[in-house]
Amino acid sequence: MDKADKIANEGRKSISSYCINDCKSYCCRKGYLVMSKKQLDVVVNNKKEEYKNEIKELKNGKMSLFLGSSGKPCPSLREDFKCGIHSNPERPKVCGDFPIFLRKESKTVLLSPRCLAVKNNLLYPYVKKLQLEGYKVLKVDELPDISTINFSDK
Ligand code: SF4
Ligand code: SF4
Repeated sequence: MDKADKIANEGRKSISSYCINDCKSYCCRKGYLVMSKKQLDVVVNNKKEEYKNEIKELKNGKMSLFLGSSGKPCPSLREDFKCGIHSNPERPKVCGDFPIFLRKESKTVLLSPRCLAVKNNLLYPYVKKLQLEGYKVLKVDELPDISTINFSDK
């Protein structure tokens, strides 16, 4: 883990209570989650039948889970707005990275425009630190839909 990873992690940590208490895990309730079949099994667990209309296989073999149908947030989201599989090694990497994505090869940091903390500029101190490390920050309007980005995952 290099300095940029540490800064990004500090940024994600800094908003954790905001995520639960204020935002109420919007990112686990809306949008698309793209992951491997193994990860999908863990995320959906025993609710496959209930979520069958929300699950699609993509051309690249990855699975897409639509979060946003009425009353159907991520099946792993608990009632207290915490992730029920937080420490499971099969939890999709994008869940751990959201809303800060580092692209080291291009020294770019992408911030999800869907994130309320990003919209409210709560990550500013960390974004500033990443800029001081030479990272270019993609402005929110350059990133219209995070779901179109091909996240490298394990
Ligand atoms: S959308 Fe942003 S602020 Fe809301 S829970 Fe997700 S990471 Fe936290
Ligand atoms: S797996 Fe956990 S962090 Fe990821 S969308 Fe579901 S509840 Fe949210």
